[in-house]
Amino acid sequence: MTPSLFRQIDPPRRLLMGPGPINVHPRVLRAMSADMLGQFDPEMTGYMNETMSLYRQVFMTENRWTFLVDGTARAGIEAAMVSLVEPGSRVLIVRAGRFGLLLSEIAERLGADIRTLDLLWGEVATPDQIEEALKEHRPQVFACIHGDTSTTMAQPLEGIGALCRKYDVLSYVDATATLGGVPVCVDQWEIDVVSGGLQKCMGGPPGSAPITISNRAAEFIMSRRHVEAGIRGADQTDGQRSRIPSNYFDLAMIMDYWSEKRLNHHTEATTMLYGAREAARVVLEEGLEARFARHRNASGALIAGLRGMGLSIFGDDAHRMANVTGVWIPDGVNGEAIRSVMRDDFGIEIGTAFGPLAGRIWRIGTMGYNACKPNVLTTLGALEAALVSEGFACSRGVAVDAAREAWR
Ligand SMILES: *Cc1c(COP(=O)(O)O)cnc(C)c1O
Repeated sequence: MTPSLFRQIDPPRRLLMGPGPINVHPRVLRAMSADMLGQFDPEMTGYMNETMSLYRQVFMTENRWTFLVDGTARAGIEAAMVSLVEPGSRVLIVRAGRFGLLLSEIAERLGADIRTLDLLWGEVATPDQIEEALKEHRPQVFACIHGDTSTTMAQPLEGIGALCRKYDVLSYVDATATLGGVPVCVDQWEIDVVSGGLQKCMGGPPGSAPITISNRAAEFIMSRRHVEAGIRGADQTDGQRSRIPSNYFDLAMIMDYWSEKRLNHHTEATTMLYGAREAARVVLEEGLEARFARHRNASGALIAGLRGMGLSIFGDDAHRMANVTGVWIPDGVNGEAIRSVMRDDFGIEIGTAFGPLAGRIWRIGTMGYNACKPNVLTTLGALEAALVSEGFACSRGVAVDAAREAWR
């Protein structure tokens, strides 16, 4: 028997209203269908420089070192951690959800001396708590998550970079979930390294991790540079610090690659670069402020609708992310059955949850291209119908009316 060729890929139409990935902006998909260029073709290096400039605007920073790490958002996280954290050095990590745990897991693999500020899932740290922990532990690196999709909460970061500088600590923030939908003010917050992804509010596919690095962090990372013997230039000597224990995620080498030197490292993921560049163009064309307002509006309308239906929202209003909303699954309702009805009858995906929140909340995303009125109303209508069919008592039509009312 000849092996099957299977079917051509032709995914069913889905409205992705979960915590990511989301439906990709058509302009991004179109950009990604363009043909390859050689990686040192001036047209390609021009695109690379333009991408750096576009992401400086998205990150609201002047940082020279603003570029892409090839891989999903986790590649940006891992590149930041492996480049900032030396073996045996002390790292302070805020852990208030799944992604904070990921940071400490990565730091553990790096042989770091890990100190944690542990909070309940859904809580955020106050500046005082962070300062106390910096004073107590005296770390070399501070790391936290901005918006953690596992809890739907956003850690306030105003003043946190300055606190880290006061104690001579390098700071890292994972802003994957918030970048392009909620303000990520890298320079204003004085955070040294911030990384993101495309598949949340940036409206792109997973597979590229924009990152930005302050001069002082770049200097530190460059001091860990040990160039491959075969490509070392005559003027290059190795740095004074321990070598970064990863080749692919060595930010010193990746900076050399994105610099005018264009020292060969990996082959830039051409198609992902086209996508990341177009995603940033779409974001900036809309305007950051308008985009933030659209995300606030979409989640505000969603919340009004959910509450109108008699459901309770997870977490406190003050720290909620404006792009993913957690909602308590009502007693007696099977959360997975509702998700199946949403998917099979309406073609809509909403998210489940992890860890202590597994089976207790759904997570509904209003991100990027999907953060619009028709999608919010359609999702609420479908959720209401699914809940009614599973025996949950709510008065019909109230949710959609409340959301339409709330939409300004
Ligand atoms: C979604 C998300 C990621 C995703 O990482 P991937 O490698 O792209 O799956 C990382 N960090 C946070 C905070 C997220 O919300």
